[in-house]
Amino acid sequence: MEENAKKTLLIVVAIACIAAAGVITYKTMGGSTASSQPTSKIWVKCNNPKCGYEYQITAKEYTDFMMSHGGPRQFIMSGAVPMKCPKCNEDSVFKAMKCEKCGKVFFPGTVEGKPEDTCPSCGYSPSAAAAKGT
Ligand SMILES: [Zn+2]
Ligand SMILES: [Zn+2]
Repeated sequence: MEENAKKTLLIVVAIACIAAAGVITYKTMGGSTASSQPTSKIWVKCNNPKCGYEYQITAKEYTDFMMSHGGPRQFIMSGAVPMKCPKCNEDSVFKAMKCEKCGKVFFPGTVEGKPEDTCPSCGYSPSAAAAKGT
């Protein structure tokens, strides 16, 4: 009798563990998809100084490009893979940000010693503004 009870308890614990793992996986997956809507647009910019072409693509297009060029592992190992610029045909297009204050499209991290979302044109940083509570 007692042996059976122990076995039952072990099975219950095992099922609970599997269920918990499932919930964690589900939550992690759900969180990552919610943060980047596949249809939301992101800004990209050509790093060629003679070109500087700026345009928008969907987050899905960007993810698809990254996944077909080594995926997140490649990204971590050697940084973002450049996309081909539709204007100058150089492989020099990277993900950029658009300043919500002055509308400048810039690469994150261009202003030294400031948060990487600091605009090099007007100095506005959404993260610094959020930290200040304004
Ligand atoms: Zn270009
Ligand atoms: Zn700005």
